[in-house]
Amino acid sequence: MRLLEEKLDDIASGHEVSLERRDLVDALESGPGVEGPLFRAASAVLERTSGPGVYLRGIVEVSNACQKNCFYCGLRRDNPGVARYTMNPQEVMEALAHGWRAGLRSFLLQSGELLGDDYIDEVCAILSECRSRWGDSVRMVLSMGELPPDVLDRLRDAGGGRYLLRIETSDRELYGRIHPRDGIHRWSARDACLRHLRSTGWQTGSGVLVGFPWQTASELAGDLEYLVDLDIDMCGMGPWIEHQGTPLNEVREQAPPRARRVTLTLRMIALLRILMPEINISATTALQTLDPRGLEKGLEAGANVFMPNLTPLKYRVNYNLYEGKTVVVDDLESMIREGKRRCESVRRLLLPDDPGDPLHYGRRRAAEGGKPGGAPPGDRIGGQG
Ligand code: SF4
Repeated sequence: MRLLEEKLDDIASGHEVSLERRDLVDALESGPGVEGPLFRAASAVLERTSGPGVYLRGIVEVSNACQKNCFYCGLRRDNPGVARYTMNPQEVMEALAHGWRAGLRSFLLQSGELLGDDYIDEVCAILSECRSRWGDSVRMVLSMGELPPDVLDRLRDAGGGRYLLRIETSDRELYGRIHPRDGIHRWSARDACLRHLRSTGWQTGSGVLVGFPWQTASELAGDLEYLVDLDIDMCGMGPWIEHQGTPLNEVREQAPPRARRVTLTLRMIALLRILMPEINISATTALQTLDPRGLEKGLEAGANVFMPNLTPLKYRVNYNLYEGKTVVVDDLESMIREGKRRCESVRRLLLPDDPGDPLHYGRRRAAEGGKPGGAPPGDRIGGQG
């Protein structure tokens, strides 16, 4: 333990120190005393690389329909208690335009996994429309599940620049316990999809679920190593939250208490910030759902993205990945004002009008011979697709 704290103090002071698997496990398993040095080290690393800025990413939950049946997700196909919806393209554009007027320059289009051509065509049309309206000044982020390579390439060419696909857990055996074994929930397919994204010009985001039944500190440490190995550009990690319409809820007593899940998530954010100083890490809605100060705590642990929800309220109430999801009824402008105040309360600075390209992406694209992040994907990719 003493050795870990010394390493963390050295990191905070600006020394190059590598954290081994044992350090990661220690940092996750130790008592509360480790959090001061850990969060100080993560904050110092962020301050030295990206500074105090916090980027805005507006979420539009385009559809809550999904072909999959993940054991932890309230939107799973076999949950009959969900009023399914899909926003039409005009509604999506109105939500995005509202965000644009409020100063947002990065938008996340999120849905369950839908493979129908009509849906993909609609998303492509939305991306094209965004590109013609706003050009290079916005970044479009997609989170639509595992899609075939040719579909991902189409979405990228239509104007998608960033893609988020959480691996959920890097441990194949554990992945098998939280997903049906039916041929469409395969860890290897998810990993392959991520690697395709990573190699075809997308700013690639991933993340894991933290604190679900059976998960150990060693597996979480393995998750961090997986994300480093994948060399992601963005990350979103949230605590597991029960949902009554899911099989995992039936073994909820095997999960850590909720407060512990929050703590573990914050420690994971801090460790990842130390391991990957230049990526973007979001303070997730799930974290804010389990802790009223989840945003502030996430930022103090090293997160640098805040995500206001732009989904019209009539749809938002039905996008329940888990129970108790925070549904803020404030208008967007108030939400951003409140976000600014909360960022400043932990000495961070909200950056409207900035699409927030992670430094990591610019560097790796330059190293790969592509242009650094910023240009529209169609220009960036060149012949790599
Ligand atoms: S986690 Fe994603 S893929 Fe799985 S059921 Fe939920 S929305 Fe569908």
